[in-house]
This record gives sequence, structure tokens and C-alpha cells, in this order.
Amino acid sequence: MANKKYRIQTACPQCGCSGLTVLSAEEMEERYGKLPNADMECGECMAKFQTEMKTACPEWDADCKLKE
Ligand SMILES: [Zn+2]
Repeated sequence: MANKKYRIQTACPQCGCSGLTVLSAEEMEERYGKLPNADMECGECMAKFQTEMKTACPEWDADCKLKE
């Protein structure tokens, strides 16, 4: 799973725009670790918000649970 890519989908609560970030497993680990909530920043209005990892990236959430 070293080369697997994870797609994080977010929707900004302030301006409503959606964003998509694609990260490798290493980058996911580095940025978000195994936290159930991820800190996000909107690329449009720069608002900071939290999103649930299981909603933003179900794949990563599932893989984290498998690794435990
Ligand atoms: Zn926004």
C-alpha cells in the first residue's frame, strides 16, 4: 500500500466550495496521522475548519483501523 493514493474531499462550511487533495500514505500519516478529525484550510476563502476523516477520506479512515 506504499504507493496508494488517498483522496481527501472537503467542503468549506464558509463559502461552500469543495476541494480535493490527493496524498500518499506517507503524506497522510505526516499531515493527519490517525486522528478522527482533520484540520483543513479552504483554498478559496482561507477559512480553517475541521472535518471528520471518515467523511473526507473513508479509505484512509478504514486503513487506519486495519493497521491497529
Ligand atoms: Zn471557503
